[in-house]
Amino acid sequence: MNSTLTPMPLSSVHPTPDSPWGTYLMQVDRVVPYLGHLARWVETLKRPKRALIVDVPIELDDGRVAHFEGFRVQHNLSRGPGKGGVRFHPDVTLEEVMALAAWMSVKNAAVNLPYGGAKGGIRVDPALLSRKELERMTRRYTSEIGIIIGPHSDIPAPDVNTNPQIMAWMMDTYSMNTGTTATGVVTGKPIHLGGSLGRVKATGRGVFVTGREAARRIDLELTGARVAVQGFGNVGSAAAELFNQAGSKIVAAQDHTGTIYNDRGFDMADLTAHVKEHGGVGGFKGAEPMKDEEFWDVACDILIPAALEGQITAERARRTKAKLVLEGANGPTVPSADDILAERGILVVPDVICNAGGVTVSYFEWVQDFSSFFWTEDEINVRLDKIMIGALRRIWDTADRHRITLRTATFAVACERILTAREERGLYP
Ligand code: GLU
Repeated sequence: MNSTLTPMPLSSVHPTPDSPWGTYLMQVDRVVPYLGHLARWVETLKRPKRALIVDVPIELDDGRVAHFEGFRVQHNLSRGPGKGGVRFHPDVTLEEVMALAAWMSVKNAAVNLPYGGAKGGIRVDPALLSRKELERMTRRYTSEIGIIIGPHSDIPAPDVNTNPQIMAWMMDTYSMNTGTTATGVVTGKPIHLGGSLGRVKATGRGVFVTGREAARRIDLELTGARVAVQGFGNVGSAAAELFNQAGSKIVAAQDHTGTIYNDRGFDMADLTAHVKEHGGVGGFKGAEPMKDEEFWDVACDILIPAALEGQITAERARRTKAKLVLEGANGPTVPSADDILAERGILVVPDVICNAGGVTVSYFEWVQDFSSFFWTEDEINVRLDKIMIGALRRIWDTADRHRITLRTATFAVACERILTAREERGLYP
């Protein structure tokens, strides 16, 4: 082939080995040997189908005008409409949103939801905005990305620093612009607006369910197990609560407000009340404060990174005492750290299966919205557990068969599904 016709790296991003897109590309490279004839389509996974960058101008309460950079990336739509959250964070970049969208493609295929992968974000610190400013920003952003989202094309949901109220504003804005009541355009909505019971805690629940199954397989007793959680938002707090209920001790927690430790385990009701009042774990009276970096040295059996990407570096992977890592966050482990954890015999349940509980209940919400028929919380949880356990078993079999990590096995199962759809649909024109 003429060498100028071989795929060239994307000009829009400059990934490094540890950056989110660099991490994702490495994860794709590792799965290629297991894709058989489908490997011919792999380049499709290494570039987003569509990436939209929007300007989000709003009038601040004091009359000034502020501009924010917004993104919506649709990584792959072979298996269904785009699906994935929206995050509001000062570190959001196109590269990060591309990686998060790609991980959604893999995650949705891994649990066999009929979705492609997408993600959005605004580069903003939402803590600096008033409620009215936050609403105006959310509405303007929704209007700007309105040209590519929709109940049958791309369905946003909550992610870092976004919540049911923000989904309500998104649903309303899209509905106003289209002259409809489009409940199916976003998931993670308030219950009264077509939200699903069980959605708020679903990601944390999925972390617990996959973690319990993984612990069983490596003979790690949950009763008395020591758990360290990074990130005490929607995902980390719900997972910690379920592990606590199963008899484990939550001995360390870290978030943007600080790091805390209690050798006997936290009183979870007290900690939850403290976080509700103070917005984070820092200053909790039922624990000792700790230097942030010491979090990674804590004597624990289970480590749950449930914050942002790139947290488990090679150096931290060498230090951790955990036997089991449950990735509540997206992309928390860089590839070099992944190798060290594998060499040290530390089992990692990767993000693309571990935190898939959220999008799984998002799927239930979307289905319920279309049929206008709603399930009980028990029905949701039973279905969620069944899907998560079934998906994890299939991944585990693949890992055993090829003697590969659970991450590469999840990519193998998911990429086979995505690329089979790609091949069956054929290349247009
Ligand atoms: N933001 C969540 C994730 O990273 C959920 C996405 C969704 O429900 O669409 O998986």
